[in-house]
Amino acid sequence: MAKLSIIETGLWDVPRNEIIQAETPDIYAQNRRHTICGHCVLVQDEKEGNILWDTGITSDWEMTWPEQFKKDYTFYKLSNLEEKLRELGLVPADIDLLICSHLHYDHAGNLKKFRHTRAGKCVLISEAEAHEAFVKVSMSPDGVFGAYFRNEIIMDGIGYQTISEDTWVSDDVFLFIQRGHTPGVIGMLVRTEENGNFLFVTDGIYSKLNFGPPVVLPGLCVDPKSYMENIDRIRALAKKYDAKIVFGHDVEDFKQWKLSPEWYR
Ligand SMILES: [Zn+2]
Repeated sequence: MAKLSIIETGLWDVPRNEIIQAETPDIYAQNRRHTICGHCVLVQDEKEGNILWDTGITSDWEMTWPEQFKKDYTFYKLSNLEEKLRELGLVPADIDLLICSHLHYDHAGNLKKFRHTRAGKCVLISEAEAHEAFVKVSMSPDGVFGAYFRNEIIMDGIGYQTISEDTWVSDDVFLFIQRGHTPGVIGMLVRTEENGNFLFVTDGIYSKLNFGPPVVLPGLCVDPKSYMENIDRIRALAKKYDAKIVFGHDVEDFKQWKLSPEWYR
């Protein structure tokens, strides 16, 4: 059996064009602001133990981020991951399996808290994401490429393992690879006994608006055709498992969920 807790990571503004592909050249040029929230998930699984899926945004962003990023993003609220884990009775060393849906700043930002820990030595990511992120930050002279920061994902004490296909990591936790936003965003299905099944799609689908129907493409999308196919697949998965979909960055939709330190059991 598994239980899960949804940990809110923050509330912030991003350039609108990232989330919603601009409808007209005019709207594209305006590139308004768009408020999003983020989350990670702690799963306590009978077999696998403590599984943490995503890590949120680094709290020292003001000191470590490039100037352009500090201009593009405005934070209203930022959670401290260690504090959130503490509220659940955990410290980073208690995590048995750490999964990063993908390696953008708002999902991998706190990997450094897991340096030299059991889980930190073999963070689970998708093979396609590894090639995208590590090649690009390595080739970039300042270590920044799009939303990937070299110093947040490559460091001593952090290692990786990869999956290249959909995988049940335990009886109740299924990981699936979503191509579209990046080449390999890991989504997660968790089955609970009392509260039913949850589909965490993260940046595979930012929001209900993107999900549609009709589907609205995001601006940040490496492969629109695969993005559309993934949405069809998510609809099928949600139906098959009668699962509730938790979107990656949807402020309004997110209000319906119970947040940590509460649990879905
Ligand atoms: Zn994101």
